[in-house]
Amino acid sequence: MTRVAIVGGGMGGLAAALFLGRRGHRVTLFERDGHRPGHDLDRDFFHWNRPGVPHAVQPHGLLAPVRTVLRAEAPDVYRTALRRGAREHNELDWFDTRPPARPGDDDLVTLRSRRIVLEAALHDAVDREPGIDVRLGEAAEGLLLDRRGKVPQATGVRSGVREYPAELVLDAAGRRSPVPGWLAGAGCRDAVVENHRVGIAYFCRWYRLRPDGPRDPGRVRAGSVTPFAVGGVFPSDNGVFAASLTVSTADPTRTALRDPEVFERAARTFPAIAAWLALTPEPVSGVLAMGGLHNRWTSLTDADGPVVTGLAGVGDSVAYTNPTMGQGVSMALWAAQWVARHADGAGNPASFTAAHHRWTRRTLRPWFDRQVAADRAEADRLADPARTPSGPATPAARERAALAACALEDPLVMRARAQVRHLVLTADQAYGTEEVRARLAHWLDQHPGFTPSFDGPTRTEWETVTHRPAPTA
Ligand SMILES: Cc1cc2nc3c(=O)[nH]c(=O)nc-3n(C[C@H](O)[C@H](O)[C@H](O)COP(=O)(O)OP(=O)(O)OC[C@H]3O[C@@H](n4cnc5c(N)ncnc54)[C@H](O)[C@@H]3O)c2cc1C
Repeated sequence: MTRVAIVGGGMGGLAAALFLGRRGHRVTLFERDGHRPGHDLDRDFFHWNRPGVPHAVQPHGLLAPVRTVLRAEAPDVYRTALRRGAREHNELDWFDTRPPARPGDDDLVTLRSRRIVLEAALHDAVDREPGIDVRLGEAAEGLLLDRRGKVPQATGVRSGVREYPAELVLDAAGRRSPVPGWLAGAGCRDAVVENHRVGIAYFCRWYRLRPDGPRDPGRVRAGSVTPFAVGGVFPSDNGVFAASLTVSTADPTRTALRDPEVFERAARTFPAIAAWLALTPEPVSGVLAMGGLHNRWTSLTDADGPVVTGLAGVGDSVAYTNPTMGQGVSMALWAAQWVARHADGAGNPASFTAAHHRWTRRTLRPWFDRQVAADRAEADRLADPARTPSGPATPAARERAALAACALEDPLVMRARAQVRHLVLTADQAYGTEEVRARLAHWLDQHPGFTPSFDGPTRTEWETVTHRPAPTA
């Protein structure tokens, strides 16, 4: 049995507490926010003021690892989420008939839900565990450190109330974790932080489908793209869905999108969103905006080895990724699962810390790097609003676009695409097989004139719909 102190009770902290508690470890979880969600999901989602967690109200696509980890570690939590309205979506259901099943297909299922449904289900389960002490409304304010060895060792957490000794401390305090600052303040070597600013702003608005109307608009793609914006739909729990627009932070039209009327006019110019808004849903929020995002990798090991032992990160505190690929919660749950499976080894803090570092590099880092690379390309594309799709596409761009188009017609390519999206295989692994390459080549033979195209508005249309007339005197 290991005593574990966890800083932060968001997705990663709650999951880690639960997975640890169920393995017999004693856990103290500190969450600075005093509210316990779950009694009224709509109220918690739309009206809980969470200044430190503004992303909680943004739409979340919960990729297959969320389901896979929960079903392995806490199937009751998964069932509760479904019972409270979350829905499963199998990517292969795009086709009228699912292709013959292959091993691993079960790992390609998205959980469609607002984040709060999962948080509430995790809280319920955590509260039932006798070995977990949840300190809601009690912020962690610092670390207890043993400085006698060559490398300082975290030996617990200090709150404003008292000190809590622990053999293992988890930093699950999210993307603005105070832990690297605490370490520096205590004279430890600096954490190694790699930061990539993301020049993309997110705008979303939530809607509720009419209870007596259709649950979805039929077979419609979830996203539409233009050279300067992306529009998408996030079907969620209990008939709620979000329409989302993503533009460059440099785009002068972006401020107008905060106006619900402008947002909705602009959203309707994307076929994916228009199809959902045609169901005449009721808007249930204003426009929720978020920018200032980063891809940030934080390592507590530098070239000379660990800067501290007995301390491991879970979630955004280690790998904070811009959400265009929706990887964040999956990576947080992976880390929670790894920590719980290895906590018995925390009695040797140096080897535990080294093993955690190796695991994050091997398992999380490739997906972090993929997001950084994709964001660079996306930011360049979105930042040039004048760019038009005219001119020949590069062979690589044509192949990428062809893969996306072909996947909508060929279940085998759709499966490969889903494997990449759900963090099962890298693009090289999934698309590089002989089978997929042959299917793509065949598809291109059938579509000799294929060039990448956009299905959202032109820039002129966009500027028209985002234009707000000057107020009359
Ligand atoms: C716009 C946007 C959209 C996103 N969309 C997706 C998506 O589609 N799919 C996806 O998987 N991910 C998405 N994410 C990412 C996802 O939300 C995060 O990866 C996830 O929340 C990380 O969980 P976490 O536990 O590390 O941090 P959080 O959930 O942020 O939790 C951190 C917790 O720590 C607490 N805390 C902080 N400091 C202290 C302290 N000193 N003492 C006590 N408590 C403290 C905070 O109050 C908070 O509750 C999105 C993020 C953004 C910004």
